[in-house]
Amino acid sequence: FKLTSKNLSPISSQQGEHRVEIPTYNRDDVKEGIVHVGVGGFHRAHLAVYVDKLLQHHNERDWAICGVGLRPNDAAMRDVLAAQDHLYTVIERSAKGSFANVVGSINSFLFAPDDREAVIAKMAHPDTHIVSLTITESGYYYNENTHQLTSEHPDIQHDLANENSPVSTFGFLYAALARRHAAGLKPFTVLSCDNMQKNGSITRHMLESFARLRNPELAKWIAEEGAFPNAMVDRITPSTSPNDIKSLSEDFGIDDEWPVVTEPFMQWVVEDKFSDGRPPFEKVGVQVVNNVHDVEQFEKHKLRLLNASHSAMAYPGQLAGFKYIHEVMEHPVYRKFVWQMMQEEVKPLLPDIPGVNIDQYCETLMERFSNPTIMDQIPRVALNASGKIPQFIMPSIAEQIWVTGPFKRLCFVLAGWFHYIRGVDNAGNAFEIDDPMREQLQALAKQGGNDPRPLLSIKVLFGDDLRNDKRFIDELTSAMELIDKEGVMAALPKLVN
Ligand code: NAD
Repeated sequence: FKLTSKNLSPISSQQGEHRVEIPTYNRDDVKEGIVHVGVGGFHRAHLAVYVDKLLQHHNERDWAICGVGLRPNDAAMRDVLAAQDHLYTVIERSAKGSFANVVGSINSFLFAPDDREAVIAKMAHPDTHIVSLTITESGYYYNENTHQLTSEHPDIQHDLANENSPVSTFGFLYAALARRHAAGLKPFTVLSCDNMQKNGSITRHMLESFARLRNPELAKWIAEEGAFPNAMVDRITPSTSPNDIKSLSEDFGIDDEWPVVTEPFMQWVVEDKFSDGRPPFEKVGVQVVNNVHDVEQFEKHKLRLLNASHSAMAYPGQLAGFKYIHEVMEHPVYRKFVWQMMQEEVKPLLPDIPGVNIDQYCETLMERFSNPTIMDQIPRVALNASGKIPQFIMPSIAEQIWVTGPFKRLCFVLAGWFHYIRGVDNAGNAFEIDDPMREQLQALAKQGGNDPRPLLSIKVLFGDDLRNDKRFIDELTSAMELIDKEGVMAALPKLVN
């Protein structure tokens, strides 16, 4: 059956292991309280699923979602969702099997390049209480070195000059907040669901900086009345493959042009700081916490352990010719490398969280990485490294330098990335690099060879402090030479105990 509202009932009529959960609430009788920018795989497997549970089991009808796409590529999502009454399937996969769930919480979709005004008006609408974001790390125009907004970026410059036809997220947020202010409404909560330490605080700082450049008075209102909860988000969500579409049709009888495949695990720890109300997220398993400090601890654990391990598998893994994360986990030495990096180089830096057993957390991560059924692609995990390495790997390296602790495996990951930037693996095969800083990175990688200093001179990524640390430069240089001479797989045994 083609996935549409009309076909939901035949889709749900199958029994046994191929039973499909469908939304049974009345999708015509909801308000869109959330506008979400960046409807990719992760949003559809995470926030939209939590909201679907609120609608399905708790009759929370004020919180349906209007999806927004800002980028030209989002036209594909617009078209698929429009043809399916904005329904899609979440396929949960693990050793226990596959479970399919049709999600109905995304009620409509606006494609900004078609109609920018419609997006601003929607965010400014009194029914909208939250604007949530998964716009990737690069969508924040955040300079890692100065911790300031990259205000010279052409998108930001464009938006400062064109209030009513913005291109960046901040341009849209600003324009909509200006209208809400003029209309006497409260500012909506801006809820970042991207993988960044202090994602809420960074969003606040970037938006306030943008607003100050346009209208200091509005910036003041946003600072005083606005809310930007910090949040830790977690659910591994690979890109959808043609096989996923085919098996959904064959196994479950659903013709869905763009389902989402994910793992059973999901977690969201969010600070309870909302300016215009919120749904009772705790009813569906979200950890809503009062203390920003709590969120930061969870974020830190997740970014430094889960995401750093992902980087450890992605860059050296790509060089070694692996295609999927679980394949790396199947290799005993590589597996040990990842485990020992977590245990010996990252864990000692992390705070204790009451109620969290960090060793158990690491073991669960190894198990999740090993899940062969979700087929998590290395190129997906690797993309946009310039937004990831400074968040996931560099803070642990910097802290180990301060305490003169061990960091050879972390350096090996960084060296792996520096090699990866060249776009050729250890067997001589070329691969694509998807990174907004690609040209600059490649020019400096070429200039440096096995000398990491030209790449380390990119201040927005590495700041100023590390470049002169001899121990760090020596370790990184020898890791680069080792990869060059022997290749990743021959080098790895030298890095495990
Ligand atoms: P995706 O490629 O499926 O979707 C990305 C979405 O972000 C698209 O809608 C795209 O248009 C939008 N986007 C990209 N750059 C943008 C920009 N500069 N401004 C505005 N919108 C922009 O990716 P995904 O898997 O959904 O992941 C998105 C983000 O979610 C990640 O970068 C990460 O921060 C977070 N996340 C992902 C996972 C995961 O496992 N996939 C897990 C936790 C967190």
